[in-house]
Amino acid sequence: MLCNILIIGGGFAGFWAAVAARRVAGSRAQVALVSPRPLLEIRPRLYEAHPETLAVDFRPHLEKLEIDFVRGAAEALDPAAKAVTLAAGDQIAYDRLVVATGSRMRRPPVPGAEAAFSVDTQAEAIAFDRRLKDIAQATEEPTIAVIGAGFTGLELALELRDRLLAHGAHRAAVRLRIVLIDRAETIGPELGPGPRPAIERALAQDGIELRLGAVVQALQADRVSFADGTVLAADAVVLATGMVAAPFAAQIPGARDALGRTIVDASLRAPGAPDVFVAGDAAAADTGDGHWTLQSCQHAGQLGRVAGENAARDLLGEPTVPYSQLRYLTCLDLGRAGALVTQGWERRIDKMGEEGKALKRMINTKVIYPPADGSIEALLASSSIDLAARTRQMDAPKAPEPVQGGAA
Ligand SMILES: Cc1cc2nc3c(=O)[nH]c(=O)nc-3n(C[C@H](O)[C@H](O)[C@H](O)COP(=O)(O)OP(=O)(O)OC[C@H]3O[C@@H](n4cnc5c(N)ncnc54)[C@H](O)[C@@H]3O)c2cc1C
Repeated sequence: MLCNILIIGGGFAGFWAAVAARRVAGSRAQVALVSPRPLLEIRPRLYEAHPETLAVDFRPHLEKLEIDFVRGAAEALDPAAKAVTLAAGDQIAYDRLVVATGSRMRRPPVPGAEAAFSVDTQAEAIAFDRRLKDIAQATEEPTIAVIGAGFTGLELALELRDRLLAHGAHRAAVRLRIVLIDRAETIGPELGPGPRPAIERALAQDGIELRLGAVVQALQADRVSFADGTVLAADAVVLATGMVAAPFAAQIPGARDALGRTIVDASLRAPGAPDVFVAGDAAAADTGDGHWTLQSCQHAGQLGRVAGENAARDLLGEPTVPYSQLRYLTCLDLGRAGALVTQGWERRIDKMGEEGKALKRMINTKVIYPPADGSIEALLASSSIDLAARTRQMDAPKAPEPVQGGAA
Protein backbone atom coordinates (compact mmCIF):
# COMPACT_ATOMS: atom_id res chain seq x y z
CA MET A 1 0.00 0.00 0.00
CA LEU A 2 1.28 3.50 -0.84
CA CYS A 3 0.11 6.56 0.99
CA ASN A 4 1.22 10.14 0.27
CA ILE A 5 0.73 11.37 3.83
CA LEU A 6 0.63 8.75 6.55
CA ILE A 7 -0.26 9.61 10.13
CA ILE A 8 0.50 7.19 12.96
CA GLY A 9 -1.70 7.65 16.04
CA GLY A 10 -5.33 8.68 16.48
CA GLY A 11 -5.01 10.99 19.49
CA PHE A 12 -5.40 14.77 19.53
CA ALA A 13 -2.20 15.29 17.54
CA GLY A 14 -2.85 12.55 14.97
CA PHE A 15 -6.50 13.40 14.35
CA TRP A 16 -5.81 17.10 13.78
CA ALA A 17 -2.71 16.34 11.70
CA ALA A 18 -4.86 14.27 9.35
CA VAL A 19 -7.54 16.97 9.02
CA ALA A 20 -4.94 19.73 8.53
CA ALA A 21 -3.13 17.66 5.89
CA ARG A 22 -6.39 17.25 3.99
CA ARG A 23 -7.16 20.99 4.30
CA VAL A 24 -3.81 21.93 2.77
CA ALA A 25 -3.51 19.16 0.18
CA GLY A 26 -7.14 19.05 -0.93
CA SER A 27 -7.49 16.31 -3.53
CA ARG A 28 -3.78 16.42 -4.39
CA ALA A 29 -2.74 13.78 -1.83
CA GLN A 30 -3.97 10.57 -0.33
CA VAL A 31 -4.09 10.82 3.47
CA ALA A 32 -4.33 7.83 5.85
CA LEU A 33 -4.34 7.46 9.64
CA VAL A 34 -3.23 4.31 11.47
CA SER A 35 -4.38 3.62 15.02
CA PRO A 36 -5.33 0.52 17.04
CA ARG A 37 -8.91 1.79 17.57
CA PRO A 38 -11.00 4.30 15.60
CA LEU A 39 -11.42 6.37 18.74
CA LEU A 40 -10.16 9.69 19.95
CA GLU A 41 -9.69 8.93 23.64
CA ILE A 42 -10.46 12.01 25.70
CA ARG A 43 -7.50 11.40 28.00
CA PRO A 44 -7.72 14.71 29.90
CA ARG A 45 -11.10 13.56 31.29
CA LEU A 46 -10.13 10.05 32.36
CA TYR A 47 -10.09 11.02 36.05
CA GLU A 48 -13.84 11.65 35.79
CA ALA A 49 -16.82 9.34 36.32
CA HIS A 50 -18.23 7.30 33.40
CA PRO A 51 -14.92 6.74 31.58
CA GLU A 52 -16.71 4.42 29.13
CA THR A 53 -18.21 7.56 27.52
CA LEU A 54 -14.89 9.36 27.14
CA ALA A 55 -13.97 8.53 23.56
CA VAL A 56 -15.20 9.79 20.19
CA ASP A 57 -15.50 7.59 17.12
CA PHE A 58 -13.59 9.59 14.53
CA ARG A 59 -14.47 7.47 11.52
CA PRO A 60 -17.44 9.62 10.39
CA HIS A 61 -15.15 12.68 10.37
CA LEU A 62 -12.37 10.91 8.45
CA GLU A 63 -14.83 9.46 5.95
CA LYS A 64 -16.25 12.90 5.18
CA LEU A 65 -12.75 14.15 4.43
CA GLU A 66 -11.80 11.04 2.47
CA ILE A 67 -9.03 10.18 4.92
CA ASP A 68 -8.42 6.43 5.07
CA PHE A 69 -8.48 4.77 8.47
CA VAL A 70 -6.20 1.75 8.93
CA ARG A 71 -6.83 -0.20 12.11
CA GLY A 72 -3.53 -1.42 13.51
CA ALA A 73 -0.40 -0.66 15.47
CA ALA A 74 2.74 0.55 13.73
CA GLU A 75 5.64 -1.65 14.75
CA ALA A 76 8.66 -0.86 12.59
CA LEU A 77 9.84 2.31 10.87
CA ASP A 78 12.28 2.26 7.95
CA PRO A 79 12.98 5.92 7.18
CA ALA A 80 15.41 5.07 4.34
CA ALA A 81 12.79 2.96 2.54
CA LYS A 82 10.02 5.40 3.66
CA ALA A 83 7.87 2.55 4.96
CA VAL A 84 6.06 1.55 8.15
CA THR A 85 5.31 -2.07 9.02
CA LEU A 86 2.24 -2.81 11.13
CA ALA A 87 2.15 -5.42 13.89
CA ALA A 88 -0.07 -7.55 11.63
CA GLY A 89 2.71 -7.57 9.01
CA ASP A 90 1.29 -5.16 6.39
CA GLN A 91 3.67 -2.56 5.04
CA ILE A 92 2.65 0.99 4.18
CA ALA A 93 4.95 3.17 2.07
CA TYR A 94 4.71 6.93 2.52
CA ASP A 95 5.94 10.15 0.98
CA ARG A 96 5.57 12.10 4.23
CA LEU A 97 5.01 10.60 7.68
CA VAL A 98 3.55 12.23 10.82
CA VAL A 99 4.37 10.31 14.00
CA ALA A 100 1.76 11.15 16.64
CA THR A 101 1.95 8.08 18.85
CA GLY A 102 1.53 10.06 22.07
CA SER A 103 2.59 8.98 25.52
CA ARG A 104 2.16 6.32 28.15
CA MET A 105 2.27 6.59 31.91
CA ARG A 106 5.69 5.81 33.34
CA ARG A 107 5.13 3.11 35.97
CA PRO A 108 7.60 3.42 38.84
CA PRO A 109 10.34 0.74 38.82
CA VAL A 110 9.16 -0.98 42.02
CA PRO A 111 7.86 -4.55 42.49
CA GLY A 112 4.11 -4.78 41.98
CA ALA A 113 3.76 -1.56 39.96
CA GLU A 114 2.13 -3.46 37.06
CA ALA A 115 -0.76 -4.50 39.31
CA ALA A 116 -1.70 -0.97 40.37
CA PHE A 117 -4.57 0.91 38.71
CA SER A 118 -4.16 4.00 36.55
CA VAL A 119 -6.29 6.35 34.46
CA ASP A 120 -3.87 6.74 31.57
CA THR A 121 -5.96 5.07 28.86
CA GLN A 122 -9.70 4.59 28.56
CA ALA A 123 -9.31 0.84 29.19
CA GLU A 124 -7.30 1.49 32.36
CA ALA A 125 -9.77 4.12 33.56
CA ILE A 126 -12.67 1.70 33.00
CA ALA A 127 -10.84 -1.01 34.98
CA PHE A 128 -10.34 1.43 37.87
CA ASP A 129 -13.98 2.48 37.70
CA ARG A 130 -15.03 -1.19 38.02
CA ARG A 131 -12.90 -1.45 41.14
CA LEU A 132 -14.55 1.69 42.52
CA LYS A 133 -17.93 0.11 41.90
CA ASP A 134 -16.86 -3.00 43.83
CA ILE A 135 -15.53 -0.85 46.65
CA ALA A 136 -18.80 1.11 46.72
CA GLN A 137 -20.72 -2.13 47.21
CA ALA A 138 -18.32 -3.86 49.61
CA THR A 139 -17.16 -1.38 52.22
CA GLU A 140 -18.31 1.73 54.04
CA GLU A 141 -14.86 2.93 55.13
CA PRO A 142 -12.59 2.49 52.13
CA THR A 143 -9.05 3.75 51.63
CA ILE A 144 -7.67 4.72 48.26
CA ALA A 145 -3.98 5.50 47.73
CA VAL A 146 -3.10 7.81 44.84
CA ILE A 147 0.60 7.80 43.97
CA GLY A 148 1.81 10.95 42.22
CA ALA A 149 0.70 14.42 43.32
CA GLY A 150 1.11 16.08 39.92
CA PHE A 151 -1.67 17.33 37.67
CA THR A 152 -3.41 13.97 37.14
CA GLY A 153 -2.99 12.70 40.72
CA LEU A 154 -4.44 15.92 42.14
CA GLU A 155 -7.46 15.92 39.82
CA LEU A 156 -8.13 12.24 40.49
CA ALA A 157 -7.76 12.48 44.28
CA LEU A 158 -10.12 15.46 44.43
CA GLU A 159 -12.73 13.62 42.35
CA LEU A 160 -12.78 10.35 44.29
CA ARG A 161 -15.61 11.15 46.75
CA ASP A 162 -17.87 12.10 43.86
CA ARG A 163 -16.75 9.00 41.95
CA LEU A 164 -18.05 6.84 44.85
CA LEU A 165 -21.25 8.90 44.91
CA ALA A 166 -21.67 8.18 41.20
CA HIS A 167 -21.78 4.50 42.22
CA GLY A 168 -24.45 5.27 44.83
CA ALA A 169 -22.17 4.84 47.88
CA HIS A 170 -23.14 7.89 49.97
CA ARG A 171 -21.77 6.65 53.29
CA ALA A 172 -18.53 5.37 51.77
CA ALA A 173 -18.07 8.67 49.91
CA VAL A 174 -18.18 10.58 53.20
CA ARG A 175 -15.94 8.13 55.06
CA LEU A 176 -13.48 7.54 52.23
CA ARG A 177 -9.86 7.92 53.31
CA ILE A 178 -7.81 9.33 50.43
CA VAL A 179 -4.02 9.30 50.76
CA LEU A 180 -2.05 11.27 48.17
CA ILE A 181 1.57 10.12 48.00
CA ASP A 182 4.58 11.69 46.31
CA ARG A 183 8.33 11.43 46.70
CA ALA A 184 8.53 15.23 46.17
CA GLU A 185 8.28 17.41 49.24
CA THR A 186 5.50 19.54 47.71
CA ILE A 187 2.30 18.87 45.83
CA GLY A 188 2.12 19.74 42.14
CA PRO A 189 5.86 20.45 41.86
CA GLU A 190 5.54 21.24 38.16
CA LEU A 191 2.82 23.82 38.85
CA GLY A 192 5.20 26.05 40.81
CA PRO A 193 4.65 27.89 44.08
CA GLY A 194 1.99 30.41 42.90
CA PRO A 195 -1.02 28.08 42.64
CA ARG A 196 0.10 25.85 45.54
CA PRO A 197 -1.79 27.48 48.45
CA ALA A 198 -5.12 27.23 46.58
CA ILE A 199 -4.48 23.57 45.80
CA GLU A 200 -3.46 22.82 49.39
CA ARG A 201 -6.68 24.48 50.62
CA ALA A 202 -8.78 22.32 48.29
CA LEU A 203 -7.00 19.15 49.46
CA ALA A 204 -7.51 20.09 53.12
CA GLN A 205 -11.20 20.92 52.60
CA ASP A 206 -11.71 17.52 50.99
CA GLY A 207 -9.95 15.79 53.89
CA ILE A 208 -7.20 14.35 51.69
CA GLU A 209 -4.17 13.09 53.62
CA LEU A 210 -0.77 13.93 52.19
CA ARG A 211 2.25 11.72 52.39
CA LEU A 212 5.02 13.79 50.80
CA GLY A 213 8.73 13.04 50.61
CA ALA A 214 7.66 9.39 50.71
CA VAL A 215 9.63 6.70 48.88
CA VAL A 216 7.46 3.81 47.70
CA GLN A 217 9.34 0.52 47.80
CA ALA A 218 6.74 -2.02 46.68
CA LEU A 219 3.09 -2.18 45.67
CA GLN A 220 0.41 -4.81 45.98
CA ALA A 221 -3.25 -4.62 45.05
CA ASP A 222 -4.12 -3.86 48.67
CA ARG A 223 -1.07 -2.06 50.06
CA VAL A 224 1.73 0.42 49.58
CA SER A 225 5.05 -0.38 51.26
CA PHE A 226 7.36 2.55 51.95
CA ALA A 227 11.15 2.64 52.24
CA ASP A 228 10.86 3.70 55.91
CA GLY A 229 9.25 0.33 56.70
CA THR A 230 5.67 1.60 57.04
CA VAL A 231 2.79 0.02 55.14
CA LEU A 232 -0.49 1.62 54.03
CA ALA A 233 -3.40 -0.81 53.58
CA ALA A 234 -5.70 0.30 50.75
CA ASP A 235 -8.76 -0.92 48.86
CA ALA A 236 -7.21 0.41 45.66
CA VAL A 237 -3.83 1.81 44.65
CA VAL A 238 -3.82 4.17 41.66
CA LEU A 239 -0.73 5.45 39.89
CA ALA A 240 -0.42 8.91 38.36
CA THR A 241 3.34 8.92 37.98
CA GLY A 242 3.94 10.98 34.85
CA MET A 243 4.22 10.23 31.15
CA VAL A 244 6.90 9.31 28.63
CA ALA A 245 6.69 9.06 24.83
CA ALA A 246 5.09 5.83 23.55
CA PRO A 247 7.70 3.37 22.23
CA PHE A 248 7.23 3.62 18.42
CA ALA A 249 8.77 7.11 18.29
CA ALA A 250 12.07 5.74 19.62
CA GLN A 251 12.76 4.46 16.07
CA ILE A 252 12.93 7.97 14.59
CA PRO A 253 16.62 8.72 14.05
CA GLY A 254 17.92 11.72 16.02
CA ALA A 255 18.09 13.28 19.45
CA ARG A 256 15.55 12.68 22.20
CA ASP A 257 14.83 14.41 25.51
CA ALA A 258 14.50 12.82 28.96
CA LEU A 259 10.83 11.94 28.26
CA GLY A 260 11.82 9.99 25.11
CA ARG A 261 10.40 12.72 22.85
CA THR A 262 11.99 13.41 19.46
CA ILE A 263 13.53 16.87 19.39
CA VAL A 264 12.10 18.46 16.26
CA ASP A 265 12.95 21.61 14.31
CA ALA A 266 10.73 24.68 13.96
CA SER A 267 8.60 23.00 11.27
CA LEU A 268 8.24 19.88 13.50
CA ARG A 269 10.43 17.84 11.19
CA ALA A 270 12.71 15.18 12.71
CA PRO A 271 16.19 16.46 11.79
CA GLY A 272 17.45 12.89 11.38
CA ALA A 273 14.63 11.85 9.01
CA PRO A 274 13.62 14.71 6.70
CA ASP A 275 10.35 13.10 5.50
CA VAL A 276 9.15 12.53 9.07
CA PHE A 277 7.24 15.10 11.14
CA VAL A 278 6.55 14.45 14.82
CA ALA A 279 3.69 15.88 16.89
CA GLY A 280 1.95 15.75 20.26
CA ASP A 281 3.39 13.98 23.29
CA ALA A 282 5.95 12.24 21.04
CA ALA A 283 7.61 15.57 20.13
CA ALA A 284 9.73 18.10 22.00
CA ALA A 285 9.42 21.42 20.20
CA ASP A 286 10.54 24.93 20.98
CA THR A 287 7.36 26.95 21.57
CA GLY A 288 8.95 30.06 20.12
CA ASP A 289 8.84 31.92 23.44
CA GLY A 290 11.77 30.30 25.25
CA HIS A 291 10.00 27.15 26.42
CA TRP A 292 9.62 23.56 25.32
CA THR A 293 6.25 22.02 24.63
CA LEU A 294 4.63 20.05 27.43
CA GLN A 295 2.90 16.71 27.16
CA SER A 296 -0.49 18.35 27.20
CA CYS A 297 -3.63 18.38 25.14
CA GLN A 298 -3.33 22.06 24.23
CA HIS A 299 0.19 21.53 22.87
CA ALA A 300 -0.71 18.22 21.18
CA GLY A 301 -3.61 19.75 19.24
CA GLN A 302 -1.56 22.64 17.88
CA LEU A 303 1.50 20.45 17.21
CA GLY A 304 -0.71 18.04 15.27
CA ARG A 305 -2.26 20.78 13.15
CA VAL A 306 1.14 22.28 12.28
CA ALA A 307 2.72 18.85 11.58
CA GLY A 308 -0.17 17.88 9.27
CA GLU A 309 -0.05 21.25 7.51
CA ASN A 310 3.73 21.02 7.04
CA ALA A 311 3.68 17.39 5.86
CA ALA A 312 1.25 18.46 3.12
CA ARG A 313 3.13 21.67 2.26
CA ASP A 314 6.42 19.79 2.03
CA LEU A 315 4.88 17.14 -0.20
CA LEU A 316 3.51 19.83 -2.51
CA GLY A 317 6.80 21.73 -2.64
CA GLU A 318 5.46 24.68 -0.63
CA PRO A 319 7.40 26.35 2.20
CA THR A 320 6.66 24.97 5.66
CA VAL A 321 5.39 27.19 8.49
CA PRO A 322 7.04 27.51 11.90
CA TYR A 323 5.27 26.05 14.92
CA SER A 324 4.28 28.42 17.70
CA GLN A 325 2.00 28.13 20.69
CA LEU A 326 0.18 31.40 20.99
CA ARG A 327 -0.77 31.18 24.63
CA TYR A 328 -0.34 28.77 27.49
CA LEU A 329 -2.80 28.21 30.29
CA THR A 330 -3.41 25.50 32.85
CA CYS A 331 -6.82 24.59 34.18
CA LEU A 332 -6.68 22.26 37.18
CA ASP A 333 -9.90 20.66 38.39
CA LEU A 334 -10.10 20.97 42.18
CA GLY A 335 -13.26 18.88 42.53
CA ARG A 336 -15.77 20.47 44.89
CA ALA A 337 -13.47 23.52 45.28
CA GLY A 338 -13.96 24.42 41.62
CA ALA A 339 -10.96 24.79 39.35
CA LEU A 340 -7.77 26.82 39.22
CA VAL A 341 -6.84 28.59 35.99
CA THR A 342 -3.37 30.02 35.46
CA GLN A 343 -2.07 32.04 32.54
CA GLY A 344 1.40 32.00 31.04
CA TRP A 345 4.51 30.04 31.87
CA GLU A 346 4.86 31.91 35.14
CA ARG A 347 1.43 30.49 36.08
CA ARG A 348 -0.32 33.67 37.08
CA ILE A 349 -3.62 32.80 38.82
CA ASP A 350 -6.43 33.97 36.56
CA LYS A 351 -9.60 32.25 37.81
CA MET A 352 -10.56 30.14 40.80
CA GLY A 353 -13.59 28.41 42.28
CA GLU A 354 -16.80 28.27 40.27
CA GLU A 355 -15.48 30.68 37.62
CA GLY A 356 -12.53 28.36 36.99
CA LYS A 357 -14.82 25.34 36.99
CA ALA A 358 -17.00 26.86 34.27
CA LEU A 359 -13.92 27.15 32.04
CA LYS A 360 -12.82 23.59 32.92
CA ARG A 361 -16.28 22.29 31.97
CA MET A 362 -16.12 24.18 28.68
CA ILE A 363 -12.65 22.80 27.91
CA ASN A 364 -13.61 19.25 28.92
CA THR A 365 -16.93 19.13 27.06
CA LYS A 366 -16.30 21.36 24.06
CA VAL A 367 -12.81 22.70 23.35
CA ILE A 368 -11.02 19.34 23.21
CA TYR A 369 -13.72 17.61 21.11
CA PRO A 370 -14.03 17.71 17.33
CA PRO A 371 -16.61 20.36 16.38
CA ALA A 372 -20.18 19.46 17.33
CA ASP A 373 -21.19 20.68 13.91
CA GLY A 374 -19.39 17.84 12.14
CA SER A 375 -19.64 19.45 8.70
CA ILE A 376 -16.65 19.33 6.37
CA GLU A 377 -16.35 23.13 6.61
CA ALA A 378 -16.33 23.09 10.43
CA LEU A 379 -13.74 20.30 10.57
CA LEU A 380 -11.41 21.99 8.10
CA ALA A 381 -11.80 25.37 9.84
CA SER A 382 -11.03 23.73 13.21
CA SER A 383 -7.79 22.38 11.77
CA SER A 384 -6.49 25.91 11.18
CA ILE A 385 -3.17 26.64 12.85
CA ASP A 386 -4.50 30.14 13.62
CA LEU A 387 -5.77 29.89 17.19
CA ALA A 388 -7.70 33.18 16.95
CA ALA A 389 -9.60 31.89 13.89
CA ARG A 390 -10.38 28.63 15.68
CA THR A 391 -11.71 30.46 18.71
CA ARG A 392 -14.00 32.61 16.53
CA GLN A 393 -15.28 29.49 14.83
CA MET A 394 -15.88 27.73 18.16
CA ASP A 395 -17.94 30.67 19.43
CA ALA A 396 -20.20 30.61 16.37
CA PRO A 397 -23.66 29.04 16.97
CA LYS A 398 -23.91 25.39 16.00
CA ALA A 399 -25.82 22.15 16.59
CA PRO A 400 -25.71 21.19 20.31
CA GLU A 401 -24.96 17.43 20.27
CA PRO A 402 -21.28 16.36 20.28
CA VAL A 403 -20.49 13.15 18.38
CA GLN A 404 -19.86 10.60 21.14
CA GLY A 405 -18.86 6.98 20.94
CA GLY A 406 -18.17 4.22 23.46
CA ALA A 407 -15.30 1.76 23.48
CA ALA A 408 -14.98 -0.24 20.27
C1 LIG B 1 -5.78 11.49 33.27
C2 LIG B 1 -5.15 12.50 32.36
C3 LIG B 1 -5.46 13.85 32.53
C4 LIG B 1 -4.91 14.79 31.67
N1 LIG B 1 -5.27 16.09 31.84
C5 LIG B 1 -4.83 17.01 30.97
C6 LIG B 1 -5.26 18.36 31.07
O1 LIG B 1 -6.04 18.73 31.97
N2 LIG B 1 -4.81 19.25 30.16
C7 LIG B 1 -3.96 18.88 29.15
O2 LIG B 1 -3.60 19.74 28.33
N3 LIG B 1 -3.52 17.62 29.03
C8 LIG B 1 -3.93 16.67 29.91
N4 LIG B 1 -3.51 15.36 29.78
C9 LIG B 1 -2.49 15.04 28.76
C10 LIG B 1 -3.11 14.84 27.39
O3 LIG B 1 -4.15 13.90 27.45
C11 LIG B 1 -2.05 14.38 26.41
O4 LIG B 1 -1.03 15.35 26.39
C12 LIG B 1 -2.64 14.21 25.02
O5 LIG B 1 -3.57 13.17 25.02
C13 LIG B 1 -1.55 13.96 23.99
O6 LIG B 1 -2.13 13.79 22.74
P1 LIG B 1 -1.37 12.93 21.64
O7 LIG B 1 -2.24 12.89 20.45
O8 LIG B 1 0.02 13.38 21.50
O9 LIG B 1 -1.24 11.47 22.27
P2 LIG B 1 -2.31 10.43 22.80
O10 LIG B 1 -3.52 11.08 23.30
O11 LIG B 1 -1.50 9.58 23.72
O12 LIG B 1 -2.71 9.59 21.52
C14 LIG B 1 -1.77 8.74 20.89
C15 LIG B 1 -2.47 7.85 19.91
O13 LIG B 1 -1.50 7.07 19.23
C16 LIG B 1 -1.89 5.71 19.23
N5 LIG B 1 -0.68 4.91 19.14
C17 LIG B 1 0.32 4.76 20.05
N6 LIG B 1 1.26 3.93 19.57
C18 LIG B 1 0.86 3.58 18.33
C19 LIG B 1 1.41 2.73 17.34
N7 LIG B 1 2.60 2.09 17.51
N8 LIG B 1 0.73 2.56 16.17
C20 LIG B 1 -0.45 3.19 15.97
N9 LIG B 1 -1.01 3.99 16.88
C21 LIG B 1 -0.36 4.18 18.05
C22 LIG B 1 -2.65 5.57 20.54
O14 LIG B 1 -3.48 4.41 20.53
C23 LIG B 1 -3.44 6.87 20.54
O15 LIG B 1 -4.56 6.75 19.70
C24 LIG B 1 -4.02 14.39 30.63
C25 LIG B 1 -3.71 13.03 30.46
C26 LIG B 1 -4.26 12.09 31.31
C27 LIG B 1 -3.91 10.63 31.11
